[in-house]
Amino acid sequence: MQLLDGKKIAQEIKEEIAAEVLKIKGRGRKAPHLAAILVGDDGASQTYVNSKVKSCEEVGFKSTLIKLKKDITQNELITQINLLNNDDSVDGFIVQLPLPKHINEERILLSIAPEKDVDGFHPVNVGRMTLNMPGYIPATPKGILEIIKRYKIETEGKHCVIIGRSNIVGLPMSILMARKGYPGNSTVTLCHSKTRNLSEETLKADIIIAALGQKEFLKANMVKKGAVVIDVGITRIEDKTRKSGYRLLGDVDFEEVSKKCSYITPVPGGIGIMTVVSLLQNTLSAAKEEYYEKTLRFSVDEDFLP
Ligand code: NDP
Repeated sequence: MQLLDGKKIAQEIKEEIAAEVLKIKGRGRKAPHLAAILVGDDGASQTYVNSKVKSCEEVGFKSTLIKLKKDITQNELITQINLLNNDDSVDGFIVQLPLPKHINEERILLSIAPEKDVDGFHPVNVGRMTLNMPGYIPATPKGILEIIKRYKIETEGKHCVIIGRSNIVGLPMSILMARKGYPGNSTVTLCHSKTRNLSEETLKADIIIAALGQKEFLKANMVKKGAVVIDVGITRIEDKTRKSGYRLLGDVDFEEVSKKCSYITPVPGGIGIMTVVSLLQNTLSAAKEEYYEKTLRFSVDEDFLP
């Protein structure tokens, strides 16, 4: 079994990005700038946003963290988003999810200008991804593709089983693994909570991507010998022996499954860290205007929002 070391790959990518930032600055241009909006005081969300901001600093990006109270109204949040949509100094921004219940996430997502949507959640970017056109790919799926590429894992003609069909992980991953090209050209089965006999599906898989959010769900008896196993799940469990008071578990029973598979991602140190780096890559693409020209400004038309 070989470990797919997200920490090592993420460090390599950060060094590549940092070198590019130096070149950009050397040409007299400003550093790429990522902004993040955090609504409320959810502990996990704060941890995720802080690690994104810290990573920006490491590669020489500018970052701005906008903290908003949890009782902010939806319209106030949209106003804040519009300010970022129209702020030329900001290349890309994210709105950290989940949002408080009184805010409609779909409406917020539609308010973000596609050219600044470095999370890749806006339907314009999802459409571009689906049609294999250039655009921002959501950070977690992009991180999974990158780790597959860097370890030169074969995907063509392979049977890939994905567990979980969320808009941010499972669904885009199913599209990406089935796309023409590399990584891709796989035959994909997308499983979810209504899938019958899940083990029958996973036992046929050459590649398993577990993204269901149930700690240590995937056991060795559900995995074919030699399969590639990618663990996206992150569940916090209380651990009083740790300074933080918790530790992280994935969706895969690492102890058991690692003895049977060919490659596996650990948790932590696997896809989580790759996700942060992918966001940096998307921000760099935004700064370089790789997919959109900045002159094509976007503004929200309230009539088109749900
Ligand atoms: P969601 O809760 O949005 O989706 C979970 C999916 O898993 C759903 O499609 C659900 O099916 C399916 N599911 C749930 N239980 C089962 C089951 N017993 N058998 C088969 N399918 C099941 O989760 P996310 O996609 O947002 O996140 C999944 C996990 O990945 C979480 O642990 C999350 O913390 C982690 N995550 C990690 C990231 C990273 O950076 N590494 C980034 C994003 C998420 P149905 O649709 O039928 O309800």
